[in-house]
Amino acid sequence: MRSRDCKIVATMGPASDAPDRLIMLIEAGVDCFRLNFSHGAREDQGKRMAAIRAAAEQTGAHVGVFADLQGPKIRVGMFKDGQIALKFNETVTLEASNEPGEPGLIRLPHPELVNALEIGDVLKFDDGKLQVTVTERHRTRVKARVDFGGTLKNQKGVNVPTRRIPISALTEKDKEDLAYALDLGVDYIALSFVQHSDDVKEARALVGDRAGIIAKIEKPSALDEIDAIVDAADAVMVARGDLGVELPPEQVPIAQRKIIRVARAAGRPVIVATHMLESMVDAPTPTRAEASDVATAVYQGADAVMLSAESAVGRHPQSAVAIMDRIIRAVEGDAEYWAGLPRDMTPPQATTADAIALSARHIADVIGCAALVAYTATGSTALRVARERPRCGVIGLTPVPATARKLALVWGVRAMVTEDVSNVEEMVEKANAAVRSLAVAEVDDRVAVIAGIPFGRAGKTNTIRIFRVE
Ligand code: PGA
Ligand code: MN
Repeated sequence: MRSRDCKIVATMGPASDAPDRLIMLIEAGVDCFRLNFSHGAREDQGKRMAAIRAAAEQTGAHVGVFADLQGPKIRVGMFKDGQIALKFNETVTLEASNEPGEPGLIRLPHPELVNALEIGDVLKFDDGKLQVTVTERHRTRVKARVDFGGTLKNQKGVNVPTRRIPISALTEKDKEDLAYALDLGVDYIALSFVQHSDDVKEARALVGDRAGIIAKIEKPSALDEIDAIVDAADAVMVARGDLGVELPPEQVPIAQRKIIRVARAAGRPVIVATHMLESMVDAPTPTRAEASDVATAVYQGADAVMLSAESAVGRHPQSAVAIMDRIIRAVEGDAEYWAGLPRDMTPPQATTADAIALSARHIADVIGCAALVAYTATGSTALRVARERPRCGVIGLTPVPATARKLALVWGVRAMVTEDVSNVEEMVEKANAAVRSLAVAEVDDRVAVIAGIPFGRAGKTNTIRIFRVE
């Protein structure tokens, strides 16, 4: 069977924690797991990490893991009675305070937010179910008119789509979670509510080269600076849950296309996330619209699609993975998919390595290679090849196990850990052994290998070699 190119991410939770369940999920097709630090105790994530690494060991797969930090998720404070009623058109007061609120008075433990609000700003509560618009600005408080009423309960989330809030993408809790996640040895850190590229740079200063950084695009202000954010990050996520609260629903598909296009052009892996098979939290099969949504992300060229509640708390985590796998394979079996995939993404200021990756794909097309093998220490050579979306299999050979796990998010790349080679004969021998053991090529098939000579130095890709499989 042809291997699948688009990868699958599954969020961990009570529905996926059991060790035998984890093995079944990997066997059903999960390439990478998400640890969601918005929920549960920190120690639970440590247990999950250990269980994932054990299951990966048992299955022999290079499974990736990323820690998703909660970020500055803004919430209303408590209420004296646990909740208040907001009535259409009434005026309420918003104030920064840790004290409980009461009818007509919403208190928020976020002075940065209340201070930043201006007349006309829109606040959405509880995933957008309730909404108010600011009508008066006073020194320490604002007044707002209720646009959509309802019951507002303790600590419900707040979104302010109209304003960039002067708040770092890393809260104190995030910094502690980050240190913990790095100690666990996660492969990537996902940053929530990124607003500009400085948020990514701030995280990078703390993370160094211990993990990759995934920028979650879930605020309109991030869309305004998407090029700089994508450039600063190692990967991006189209985080449609919060994005869909901050933007009107009809703008979400447009944002998704744009984020994918920018990420593809920059050669950064892009994950499409949230509500992909949402009905499978309860139901054993997806709706037709959900199947179509997953397929659309694949047609658009996403590197990975993600399960959230479906795998974390749903009733059918394994079926959700299996169905995603089938949808992806069906799209990848469609000639229209290959015809429509944007390629030739190499930038005008291409490096030698970019040119080699592009040429390798052309060679593979012209002479019908069965596989492209990339020697890659950091993963960047494999990323460059994947950016060209070759039709044949891409094998990433790396001496670094962490690189093999990072490649779990990258379209089309299958990673193998091998020792460094020291001459061209060895380079071909190891590539030959790799394509045979992964069963991507048969005897006499042609395979293209790309590498850097002299061997063993990162960032020096300069060689293409074509051989016949023995
Ligand atoms: P979350 O992020 O699940 O952590 O909120 C994804 C999203 O908002 O879509
Ligand atoms: Mn989110």
